[in-house]
Amino acid sequence: MNVLDSELALADLLQAGYEPVDDSQHADVILFNTCSVRQHAEDKIYSALGRLKHIKRQRPGTIIGVLGCMAQRERQTILHRAPHVDLVVGPGQLARLPELIRRVEAGEGPIVELSLDRRADAHGTVRASFLQHDPPRMAAVRPIRQQAMVRIMFGCDKFCTYCIVPAVRGPEQSRPAEKIVAEVRRLAEDGCLEVTLLGQTVNSYRDTSGERPVALADLLAELNEIEGLRRLKFVTSHPRHITTDLICAVRDLPKVSPYLHVPAQSGSDRILKRMRRGYTAGRYREMLSEIRVAIPEAAVTSDFIVGFPGETEEDYRQTVELLSESRFKNSFIFKYSPRPKTKAVELYEDDVPDKIKRQRNNELLAIQNAISLEDAQAWVGRQAEILVEGPSKAARKKRGDDETIQLVGRTVCDRIVVFDGRQELTGTILPVTIEKVDAFTLFGRADPSRASRQAESR
Ligand code: SAH
Ligand code: SF4
Repeated sequence: MNVLDSELALADLLQAGYEPVDDSQHADVILFNTCSVRQHAEDKIYSALGRLKHIKRQRPGTIIGVLGCMAQRERQTILHRAPHVDLVVGPGQLARLPELIRRVEAGEGPIVELSLDRRADAHGTVRASFLQHDPPRMAAVRPIRQQAMVRIMFGCDKFCTYCIVPAVRGPEQSRPAEKIVAEVRRLAEDGCLEVTLLGQTVNSYRDTSGERPVALADLLAELNEIEGLRRLKFVTSHPRHITTDLICAVRDLPKVSPYLHVPAQSGSDRILKRMRRGYTAGRYREMLSEIRVAIPEAAVTSDFIVGFPGETEEDYRQTVELLSESRFKNSFIFKYSPRPKTKAVELYEDDVPDKIKRQRNNELLAIQNAISLEDAQAWVGRQAEILVEGPSKAARKKRGDDETIQLVGRTVCDRIVVFDGRQELTGTILPVTIEKVDAFTLFGRADPSRASRQAESR
């Protein structure tokens, strides 16, 4: 979501006449788009802001801004801890960014521009204070023209007790289906082959503005018809909203990737209840088994939090069990980080020592990595169709003028594939034969004669 917000902000600034530069030493405006999900992310921003003090001293006219969720959460505190900041802009005010920078340039400042707190006013008023920012898309600001993210929802209404997102990104709002379809159509006309639909709980999407409500499954069916588009993905799904309709849509619509990110968070019913996730481990297993039966080739991925308040060894063992048997393609595992003003902080003490959190995190990661490796090994000798994203990290570092370099791309199920080829293959979809693997990456050999940039059936 933040990558998309940054892309849209950059497009707005280009429209307003700004140009990107390679490093902060030469910038007139330096903006940080921030995350608040864990304390660590915020700490990194404060360190980065600290490192900019000398730039402000040397060139007092440089404008420094903090955007996004940390701006909404920390507000004036940012100005106290980093007085050289000129601009603090919440995620619901990004539509106004160029205007706010102009105002700072004109001598006003520091400016703090935020949306309303969830309980500050009537629901509709609070919702309206989170502006829907959906400007025209600009291919030039995306890493590649052939891949784009499209937001279909703003905010979140789930209030999982550990989570800051509903407070900082505001009430859940679904964008009208008509607007989304028009945006994806334009992206496809502009050469985009793969669209990832975004929402905090993307599968609770529901547009009620038209004659009949449109759910995610209906939206996918409509988008599937768009000429030129080849792949459709969506993240993040909430286990409670995985419906049979949605599973059928993923199974039956040829452009929809058989890939679902459905975070479980924990395998213990006691902890899931404390987290207010709204399902039990048993219900999660039933949902997963429905996906596995309907779409055996589906890649399912998950998130887990270890060390949530009150998590005993027994609770943690139940998480190990769920993760071990679920065979996720991969899982993101996080140590619980208390977020001020969330229900979890109000109700429970952060009582699992960091050492234990770390142990549990490492153990879960090791189990998941072994599963990911086994899962990847099944690919050796098979052919994967991949969308080429460009030079790999290693190739970017080398910067030689060799014709053949190491390229990286993704399968429909979001597996990363590395192979050698010419840079011009970037943005094409082509078959790659997988020769070896590790837990995170497939390594293969390409058949560039079969690359395609245009639409063709899967
Ligand atoms: N809307 C998505 C993503 C939310 S944030 C969802 O519901 O899954 C991404 C992940 O960060 C979450 O899935 C959760 O695993 C993790 N997370 C959120 N708050 C956290 C906290 N306070 N401490 C540790 N991990 C957290
Ligand atoms: Fe946070 Fe839960 Fe909403 Fe995801 S569903 S953003 S974890 S409150």
